[in-house]
Amino acid sequence: MKYCAQCSTEYRDDIGICSDCGAVLVGQEEWDRILRAREQETAEEFLPVKTAEDQFAAEVFSDALEKEGIPVIVRSFAETSFDGIFIPQKGWGMILVPKEFCDRARQIILSVETSLPSQSDQ
Ligand SMILES: [Zn+2]
Repeated sequence: MKYCAQCSTEYRDDIGICSDCGAVLVGQEEWDRILRAREQETAEEFLPVKTAEDQFAAEVFSDALEKEGIPVIVRSFAETSFDGIFIPQKGWGMILVPKEFCDRARQIILSVETSLPSQSDQ
């Protein structure tokens, strides 16, 4: 079997180019590799771990996480690309990390928070 990496159509071995996309077909081994890579991409799901009060806090948190080698996405609530994620009323934005880093990220954020100057200094 041969496969089109663009549209995932299967072809006979004697065919070299996808009739739909015109893409060069790949063999079984290469196709397996592509499928694995795609699975990994969907597994890299980013989940929100922290709501940042303001932009400063968001930067402090993301810096601390990146220092620990954790990929971070910072999204302000002002951005429109927030499909499917619940938006709380308070705060400036959201810190997101890959699913597998969530627990570690929460610990780091917690330790960063305690070192931050208190917001309710009165
Ligand atoms: Zn194709």
